[in-house]
Amino acid sequence: MKVIETGQDWKIAAFRSSFHVHFLFLVIVMNYKFFDVAFEYANKAYLEDEVPIGAVIVKDDTIISFGFNKKENNNSVISHAEIEAILEAEKKLNNWRLDDCDIYVTLDPCPMCASAIKQSRIKNVYSALSNSDSSNSKLIQSIFSVDKTNPAVSFYSDLDVDRSKKLLNSFFKKQRMK
Ligand SMILES: [Zn+2]
Repeated sequence: MKVIETGQDWKIAAFRSSFHVHFLFLVIVMNYKFFDVAFEYANKAYLEDEVPIGAVIVKDDTIISFGFNKKENNNSVISHAEIEAILEAEKKLNNWRLDDCDIYVTLDPCPMCASAIKQSRIKNVYSALSNSDSSNSKLIQSIFSVDKTNPAVSFYSDLDVDRSKKLLNSFFKKQRMK
């Protein structure tokens, strides 16, 4: 990997170098195979005419639960992919504390899910695509920051942008044609 190019301003070179190091570190700690599974569940939502969003929860490098958006089919405003995955993980671990767990989601969480993620003590959130609504991003950043009762959640977004955009665009196109 070529980081510093000849004739380049040293500040830009330093920034690029730092970005590459951080990005490489992130690629090492996260795992794209978990995104593949999250997208499988997003596809299930797509086939059931739900907004295609999927989530998986991982502990010790193993998927312990998954969920996809079921809002329409359950007639429930809380049936988001992340909530479905959290409920299943809690059952599996017989504990509401999802210590040392990470969640992979195909779209940034909404404030409700961000709050549930934080209260469940999930450590890292890996999201494929950031929400187009910038106020959502600010809100969830604030929810994920440290407070008196819960530790901070590490949040990484825009990790699989094309795949998520393609799926969502295809869904909304299909809905418009109905
Ligand atoms: Zn949500």
